[in-house]
Amino acid sequence: MKTQPELKLSDWFFPRASINTTTNWLAPVVWHGTYKEDILENNYANHKITVGLTVFAVGRYIELYLFNFISSANKYFMVGQKVIIYVLTDDFSKMPWPELSPLRTIKVFEIKREKRWQDVSMMRMKIISEHVVDHIQYEVDFLFCMDVDQVFVGKYGLETLGESVVQLHSYWYKAHPIEVPYERNQSSEAYIPIGEGDFYYHAATFGGTPIQVLNIARACFKGIMNDKKNNIEAVWHDESHLNKYFFLHKPTKLLSPEYNWDPHLRHPGEIKAFKIRWAHKHFKFFNRHVVF
Ligand code: UDP
Ligand code: MN
Repeated sequence: MKTQPELKLSDWFFPRASINTTTNWLAPVVWHGTYKEDILENNYANHKITVGLTVFAVGRYIELYLFNFISSANKYFMVGQKVIIYVLTDDFSKMPWPELSPLRTIKVFEIKREKRWQDVSMMRMKIISEHVVDHIQYEVDFLFCMDVDQVFVGKYGLETLGESVVQLHSYWYKAHPIEVPYERNQSSEAYIPIGEGDFYYHAATFGGTPIQVLNIARACFKGIMNDKKNNIEAVWHDESHLNKYFFLHKPTKLLSPEYNWDPHLRHPGEIKAFKIRWAHKHFKFFNRHVVF
């Protein structure tokens, strides 16, 4: 069978001089306006793919966020491609069922509820690994793992796919690595020495091929468990471990903060379009420390 030559980065990606669109290890940083959607779509028209999206909703997060997450993903995530949304929840009976377009499927899995929200967040790494091994690896070509407390507000398409994909954090994308909140305790597995590091990545989105996602999730979970053995919890939990992973294993694609924007921030000029925005945090329901 004749296979299509693979699309080269230079066929669809057009770096801009005004913003950082290429890392020093030559990975693209995808911003709105740097990619040619029609070229990507034509390429994938002859090469059908399925994209997976895992999302966890435990406790109050089911009622607060899940409906909007799923219905906005239905509308904007990988338009025209096959999508499987994997919902991991502790309560089937509260599962919302927004209407889905053709090519979209939801698979729901029940998980046990952790007591502390930090553990809900961290245990995602273990559960994602198990599901990739058991079935996701056979079902999708690419997989994204996302927080539920966010809403798609613009097309999130083929330009985001890659071997290992990370999200630049909207608070820190302009900061020098010295300033960002990496874990600084040398005894933690997530430790990154001051002066080192590339960018601060937001754990609300990461992805890649299923095998890469498995590597990421396994490594982060191993770090989390080793820290637990030593009575350590990294400052930003799974996010600290994710940052350590990508400090050691550089991502092949980075997404601009447009792909995960906090609407409380003022828009600097380079922000052209929003793909996902953070949902309003319902702090009154949680005994959570507000950081901004
Ligand atoms: N989560 C959940 N229930 C909880 C706490 C966390 O479902 O009680 C899941 C949910 O998918 C959430 C993610 O874990 O988006 C990360 O937690 P959170 O969004 O609260 O962390 P933050 O973004 O504030 O760091
Ligand atoms: Mn979140």
